[in-house]
Amino acid sequence: MDQIILSKDLHWEKVALCEKNFELKKANENNAHGLFANKNFKKGEFMFQFRSKNIVSRPTYLTVQMDDNKHFSLDPDFLQYMNHSCDPNVFLDTKDLSLTAIKPINKGEELSFFYPSSEWDMEQPFICNCGALECQRYIAGAHSMKTEALEKYRLNEYIKRKLGEAR
Ligand SMILES: [Zn+2]
Repeated sequence: MDQIILSKDLHWEKVALCEKNFELKKANENNAHGLFANKNFKKGEFMFQFRSKNIVSRPTYLTVQMDDNKHFSLDPDFLQYMNHSCDPNVFLDTKDLSLTAIKPINKGEELSFFYPSSEWDMEQPFICNCGALECQRYIAGAHSMKTEALEKYRLNEYIKRKLGEAR
């Protein structure tokens, strides 16, 4: 049986400093990457302005969805290492391309966002081991989640629109 290792139990080693406020790290146990805060952020604080590049019509495991048949890669590249959590501390806004802290974040904490806040139907669904009390377990995009569960999260305009259409 696979042993489930939670992110907080991994031993993370620094790989690179990114744009001074972020750190890319790698876990000794499984070579997973993660993005970490290199300063404290207040709840609601603007964290970073990113860009979109390579807009494609079909998703990959690295793209972020901005509309039907419109998926982009994150620029700068280090943002692709920000992992999913069902109890996220960052909101990734696909409209104004910003990162915002949705909780107080301490220096050294791993940054995470909720993938279904932008993804309607993910290319590579996975079983989540984030360890959150309300972990959704099967992460396949917003389309596979109950509306009541989704509404507890901050969602992108695109996902809100899709939910409206699905009703
Ligand atoms: Zn989870």
